[in-house]
Amino acid sequence: MIRFDILSVVPELLESPLNHSIVRRAKESNLAEIYIHDLREYGKGKYRQVDDYSFGGDAGMVMMIEPVYKLITRLKSEREYDEIIYMSPDGELLDQKIANQLSCQKNIIILCGHYKGIDHRIREHLITREISIGNYVLSGGEIPAAVVCDAVIRLIPGAISDETSALSDSFQDDLLAPPAYTRPADFNGWKVPDVLLSGNPKLIKEWQENEAVERTRRLRPELLKD
Ligand code: SAH
Repeated sequence: MIRFDILSVVPELLESPLNHSIVRRAKESNLAEIYIHDLREYGKGKYRQVDDYSFGGDAGMVMMIEPVYKLITRLKSEREYDEIIYMSPDGELLDQKIANQLSCQKNIIILCGHYKGIDHRIREHLITREISIGNYVLSGGEIPAAVVCDAVIRLIPGAISDETSALSDSFQDDLLAPPAYTRPADFNGWKVPDVLLSGNPKLIKEWQENEAVERTRRLRPELLKD
């Protein structure tokens, strides 16, 4: 069982992506738990303030340290966390290797930033790892956090009904996945490769391996380097 605690000022953004398909089934099978926490509940004063002007006068609001500190301290008093991750465009780039690593852990906090970002002291003192989902800037860390949860949860044994299916995905062995086809075998003259209809498992496996290598060489040669 893996447990995610996601900290956000816009928790609504996380609801749909984490409540359908493989992630939902993994939760229902007790393979994963996801707790979404609203940082506003820890906000300051009557208006539950969670952001403030940045020192130095730069444009944009910054998420305050106190609500984040209070929530993380409460969670840490309840259990031990393996990682406290901040989603950040300047973090390490998410890839399948990181997803595999995280899928072996038990308790993970993910902090979603918003506005101009978060008070840097949170990153200096509370965060253990910073992850980016790509070299572009989004409005908040919620979609990136959902991306991490999805990539990690589908790797947990049992999350995908056919367990070998996750292992044959692109990147899992530094190879892209071979093409897949389904019925009908002939759609208006667009045909499925004959070998897949041959019923010969050895020939099919060989064809898939060749396709995987060929596609990787053509589309993502850097994956083949070592
Ligand atoms: N001023 C910041 C960007 C803030 S964007 C900077 O230039 O680095 C607001 C929030 O969205 C961030 O705090 C982060 O949590 C999230 N975010 C934006 N782009 C992201 C990305 N590519 N990967 C992960 N998180 C991202």
